[in-house]
Amino acid sequence: MKTRNTFGIAIHGGAGTISKSELSAEKEQEYHAALEEALSIGHSILAQGGTAIDAVEMAINSLENCPLFNAGKGAVFCADGRFELDASIMNGKDLSAGAVAGVKGIANPISLARKVFEKTQHVLLAGKGAMDFAKSIGVNMEEDAYFHTEHRYKQWQDLVGTDTVALDHGSKKSKNLGTVGAVAYDKMGDIAAGTSTGGMTNKAFSRVGDTPIIGSGTYANNKTCAISCTGHGEFFLRAVVAYDISCLMEYGGLSLEQACEKVVNEKLVEFGGEGGLIAVDNLGNICLPYNSDGMYRGWAKEDGVIYTKIHE
Ligand code: ASP
Repeated sequence: MKTRNTFGIAIHGGAGTISKSELSAEKEQEYHAALEEALSIGHSILAQGGTAIDAVEMAINSLENCPLFNAGKGAVFCADGRFELDASIMNGKDLSAGAVAGVKGIANPISLARKVFEKTQHVLLAGKGAMDFAKSIGVNMEEDAYFHTEHRYKQWQDLVGTDTVALDHGSKKSKNLGTVGAVAYDKMGDIAAGTSTGGMTNKAFSRVGDTPIIGSGTYANNKTCAISCTGHGEFFLRAVVAYDISCLMEYGGLSLEQACEKVVNEKLVEFGGEGGLIAVDNLGNICLPYNSDGMYRGWAKEDGVIYTKIHE
């Protein structure tokens, strides 16, 4: 198999209004440490010749297992006081993709999303059917207590009983941030992307955002790029953000950086869609654009230097 020496990974832990005053130095350090850990897991898989899709899945598992982020453990509360999780993953090598929406009791929805394309003929499974599928392949179910975190409970208490749903990204909602994602390119020249979220605090009616929708929240194609989005899902859905970037590259001849700039800082801004994304192309370029006040993010390339950032 032809290999090359370049590889890299980028991750996010949510984009939005992250006010510096609300983030204590200690908390900030915790975020940096959690991002670093996820990056080093993904990086070591790639360094050993592992695949981009493995690096994406394992880096996201690490973020899902961390209570700081709105994915897996640490997910936001729905209107009924429970947790509904969404995730999707895509392999740029062959365009295989899997996704789950509105699943309950699943600690690592990104891994279940991967199983959807590995073990079924489908791309997206939702709700009870997705959980029946999880049980059928032996995935362990967690009780709600596993997902319960005090800071998410307090956020929900501010909204419970109202019709208001809080995006991770509204102003004064800095504590709500946390959808997670990863994109990677490997030594074989393949790229992959994945995204996992608890969605919006106090969401009802099985609301689903962009995260589990291939082409909106996640997309990967070896011909162009791998993208994982975070932001106001309704806008990202309507703007078909991830595929739009790929199309601008494939049909418009734009570079990764030009396409990201156009979609995140022009189209989404005009449209009113707050958020950001992480992107890699098949040449190993990495872009992490956002139009919000900040985005938990980080990246590492073959030199092994790990960068993590929250604000500029
Ligand atoms: N895009 C996610 C959603 O709308 C939220 C997020 O990125 O934080 O469900």
